[in-house]
Amino acid sequence: MKKVLLFGATGSIGQQTLDIISRFRDSLTLLGISGKLRLDNLLDIAEKFRPPLIALPDEESVSYLAKRLSYKPEFFVGDEGLARMASEPSADVVVIAISGIKGLIPAYYALKNGKRVALANKESIIGGGFLLLSTAQSSGGEIIPVDSEHSALFQLLQKVKSYSLRKVYLTASGGPFLDWDLKDLEKVTPELALKHPTWRMGEKITVDSATLMNKGFEVIEASVLFNLPPEKIEVLIHPQSTIHALVELIDGTFFAHLSKPDMRLPILYALFYPERPNFDVADLSFSPSLTLNLFPPDFQKFPCLTLAYSALKLGHPYPLILEASDEVAVPAFLEGRIKFTDIPRVLEKTLNEFTIKYKPSTVDEILVFHEEVKNFTEEMIKRL
Ligand code: NAD
Ligand code: MG
Repeated sequence: MKKVLLFGATGSIGQQTLDIISRFRDSLTLLGISGKLRLDNLLDIAEKFRPPLIALPDEESVSYLAKRLSYKPEFFVGDEGLARMASEPSADVVVIAISGIKGLIPAYYALKNGKRVALANKESIIGGGFLLLSTAQSSGGEIIPVDSEHSALFQLLQKVKSYSLRKVYLTASGGPFLDWDLKDLEKVTPELALKHPTWRMGEKITVDSATLMNKGFEVIEASVLFNLPPEKIEVLIHPQSTIHALVELIDGTFFAHLSKPDMRLPILYALFYPERPNFDVADLSFSPSLTLNLFPPDFQKFPCLTLAYSALKLGHPYPLILEASDEVAVPAFLEGRIKFTDIPRVLEKTLNEFTIKYKPSTVDEILVFHEEVKNFTEEMIKRL
């Protein structure tokens, strides 16, 4: 029986991880959960799975849950609680489904303790991937990516010798504005941006998919996780979200990874790796109407992609700056404070104008630096 710690249990990835755990009760059990908002939802999860450990943001949430629960779990509080629960010795797999840079805390401590980390949180890879990788290396921990494209690449690259690799390709649905004219993007509303054509995800990542910032972040993620230079990573638009990644070999051969767009598949893979259990609820059916298109993205229409490559080439801490700035720009857009087309403008301005006084190298420094960039971006948006 594998014991699973699930950080971010109430979110989109969190719920899908719980679905997998329910379906594989003979081999998976929930050791601990964390969540920040939606405490009633967390309460329901706790009652259903009865995890002995629960991490919460503050003491008020602890007393809220403690009063209502029918059993007595051990509670962990705040950022320190995230670190302590992630260090729980009896855990076999630690799923990081928290959104935002705070995901770095449990990811780091789980790896430091030599655990397997099923890592969905991309902010921690973008801002602190170097730290996670070196920590995993020295402790014997391992990172299994859960982001669908990176799970696909992880699976494909196992079959390829590194000297025979020419390039990797990440696919992007293209988001809801793929066919819009550049000039019309000014008029995009939050409602329109929140309608993703193929995936159901949290709000932030859905807007990032509409600007293609998400794909830009994934280019950075791929570079960090698989130690690839920017010129070996390309993006292809693939509106059907059926091919998740491709690798091109030096003899011109391509391997592709296909599956139904269902995040439960990469989650399942990370939980069971290197095994593959039988799972038939996400079958891909080939109907006469199924067509698969692949074509290059329009960098002019989606400047966030270019920004990601620039940040990647500049190196640490530029990807962290880009990501932190986006964590402010996206809510500002959703709250109607800036336009959709202002998002890349704000990000570019932050990349150019934020003064780097030091290179953050520890978890604490990365979190503080991230906060400084967010404050800088917030002030800049006020002046726009
Ligand atoms: P979400 O917004 O639906 O859920 C976020 C979860 O994290 C919630 O449980 C929330 O309570 C928790 N959380 C947020 N801030 C926290 C904090 N400071 N401390 C503790 N808990 C906190 O997000 P999501 O769509 O499930 O995405 C989660 C992560 O996975 C993100 O990094 C995202 O980029 C990545 N990801 C998501 C998808 C997807 O399909 N949803 C795909 C690939 C990668
Ligand atoms: Mg993805």
